Amino acid sequence: MLSSQLQENIDMRKVYNFSAGPGMLPEEVMRTAQEEFLDWHGTGMSIMELGHRGPEFQGVAEKAEADLRYLMNIPDNYRVLFLTGGASAQFAMVPLNLMTQRKKADYIDTGIWSKKAVDEAKRYGDVHVAASSVVQHSLMHIPSQSSWTLRDDIDYVHYTPNETIDGLEFKWVPETGDVPLVADMSSMILSQPVDVTRYGLIYAGAQKNMGQAGVTIVIIRDDLIRDPVFLTPTLYSYKLHAEHHSFYNTPPTYAWYISGLVFDWMRRHGGVEAMYKVNLRKAKKLYGFIDEHQDFYFSTVSPESRSLMNVVFSLKNEKLNDVFLKEAGDAGLTNLKGHRIVGGMRASIYNAMPEEGVDALIAFMHEFARKHG
Ligand code: PMP
Repeated sequence: MLSSQLQENIDMRKVYNFSAGPGMLPEEVMRTAQEEFLDWHGTGMSIMELGHRGPEFQGVAEKAEADLRYLMNIPDNYRVLFLTGGASAQFAMVPLNLMTQRKKADYIDTGIWSKKAVDEAKRYGDVHVAASSVVQHSLMHIPSQSSWTLRDDIDYVHYTPNETIDGLEFKWVPETGDVPLVADMSSMILSQPVDVTRYGLIYAGAQKNMGQAGVTIVIIRDDLIRDPVFLTPTLYSYKLHAEHHSFYNTPPTYAWYISGLVFDWMRRHGGVEAMYKVNLRKAKKLYGFIDEHQDFYFSTVSPESRSLMNVVFSLKNEKLNDVFLKEAGDAGLTNLKGHRIVGGMRASIYNAMPEEGVDALIAFMHEFARKHG
């Protein structure tokens, strides 16, 4: 029997979607997109039908970039590119464009996504894994930089600040001196303040905190825009995209537009600082609840490395996993199943997940543990 509040939420189609990506979008963004869908700003056409070089879409594109620059305080000596191919294409674009001088790069392997980045980069040059996440007392954590084996003569250091699948997050920025630092921020961008000047290049797929799948944002420092290695496919050159302001070919216009709506929504709601405050509260509540109910639920991530966005946890009694997911789904709490590789559960609580969604999840978990404990 569902509580009347949960039943009401479902009736209003207020399902809380904990998917790791594509993730939940702000309701306001969805409503604006719906209102503008058939007739964008009196043109009688949908934005998706308007030419990418026309003044209408150019305006949308420029505002999206300006808003992102404002939200992340991106300095003028960085270019912002709106590309396709997902963050996965960046696993190749980064080495093809940056591993060009010393032909060597160091990678930090903290989970499944950084491992994929390593495997792809190895196809193009001399890649050394300078550190890996470690398990101590059954808890995973990020190794401190003092244990890393970074080399001196490298083109860049690559790391993944937040591992979406493993639920592991850096709470600090690696120190790499003059060596450019490259970060895959796919699942943490805009969730917390980031000092862009610490990075040579940042990339992120949009489908978690920045909109829908289809557009990938690259923020690259001017001095790193150079000729890629010989035979790099034309579309994999940062230089080409920078020269053409991401309009060399047809960009993913609708996805770009949706990201623009998300940036605008963020600006109107206090920007990154405001999101961060709520995100901290949401994560604290959820991890706090898990820690307080260790007879039933547990986290395998060490407290100082726990992700703000992807809360990975397990049930002590794995036999209850399917019942948990079924009952959660009935209660309007969806997509809580952990990634098939790590199993267990994962609650992704991106910016668009309201605090009430986390409260509803905790209330459900409480009730579930009482019933099945
Ligand atoms: N890196 C990270 C950290 C991710 O979470 C993901 C997607 N979940 C990717 C890379 C791959 O992104 P895409 O599917 O957009 O290629």
